[in-house]
Amino acid sequence: MIKFLDLQKINLVHQDEIENKLLEVFRSGWYLLGNEVKNFEDNLAKYIGSTHAIGVANGLDALRLILRAYIENGVMQKGDEIIVPANTYIASILAISDNGLVPVLVEPTLDTYNIDVSEIEQKITPKTKGILIVHLYGRAVWSEELQKIATNNGLKIIEDNAQSIGASWNGIKTGNIGDAAGFSFYPGKNLGALGDAGAVTTNDENLANTIRAVANYGSTEKYVNLYQGLNSRLDEIQAAVLSVKIKYIDSENMRRKEIAEMYLSGIKNPKIVLPESPQNKNEHVWHLFVIRSSEREELQKYLAEKDIQTLIHYPIPPHQQKAYKALNDLTFPITEKIHAEVLSLPISPVLDDQEISTIIAALNDF
Ligand SMILES: *Cc1c(COP(=O)(O)O)cnc(C)c1O
Repeated sequence: MIKFLDLQKINLVHQDEIENKLLEVFRSGWYLLGNEVKNFEDNLAKYIGSTHAIGVANGLDALRLILRAYIENGVMQKGDEIIVPANTYIASILAISDNGLVPVLVEPTLDTYNIDVSEIEQKITPKTKGILIVHLYGRAVWSEELQKIATNNGLKIIEDNAQSIGASWNGIKTGNIGDAAGFSFYPGKNLGALGDAGAVTTNDENLANTIRAVANYGSTEKYVNLYQGLNSRLDEIQAAVLSVKIKYIDSENMRRKEIAEMYLSGIKNPKIVLPESPQNKNEHVWHLFVIRSSEREELQKYLAEKDIQTLIHYPIPPHQQKAYKALNDLTFPITEKIHAEVLSLPISPVLDDQEISTIIAALNDF
């Protein structure tokens, strides 16, 4: 059986280092907002190149907190609009609506699965305050045009970097190209904790201070509350694990890239559309390797019979979810086509060449 993602195997690669750290935190008696969180925040900021990194409870909270802090700082207010790609994972959209902001969906392009920048300007209204870009599947989305649209319209660019730690555009890491970025360290992400974890990176000190306070009951000083905050802190134990694993993120992303290249050159079947291999400026970290087929259901069943696990990211677009009834009447043909046809192949740093060859051979026989 070739598993879609073997988390046990992924983490056992670092068994000794992780077990030592777990024991150290356990014995220290200090479990929240201590040295491990501080250390991981420094490691992350250094890796991304940002001046601030703030550990939080999960990726959804990272995005919620960025928008919430913009509201607390008077940069945005309830009812303002945030542009977001229609085919993103629902968390990006939840972060917007949870803050009383209005998500305005924009189609992606079929070759990148990222937001179609040429569609953004026509969605801008006097209420638009930001663009939430999503580096989906590990592929950076950025362009001079996007920067120009944001600058000309006074919009904040918020990055959903949950799937793309290590990716870059023109040498700048995702997480450091917009105004603020949210990260997820959910166990299945490229940098995964042993439970929920997340972070925000930014170069905006004011924003960073507000996020830190809001995430800790709205307080900078114990029992003194500046905001009606929430409790969204990164655990010491997760921070300690992440400080071990961040040392290996580049080599693990490199292995993902090797596997992606094997798929791209090996899969030759007219029934299968491969993802575009990004060129020059764009460093892709292949969180997911997503193919498309008009016979997606048959293909998934066929692979399952050959003991190859695949997943669908994602089966139902956000605008068709019951959670967003107000969006249900809208149509996004490209987004809907993507949701009907995509299939994610196994890609993880612990897969060996033999397994990849088996998958390629199976796909070519379909
Ligand atoms: C995983 C993910 C999130 C949410 O992260 P959690 O840590 O699960 O809350 C947000 N956006 C995208 C694109 C994701 O893939």
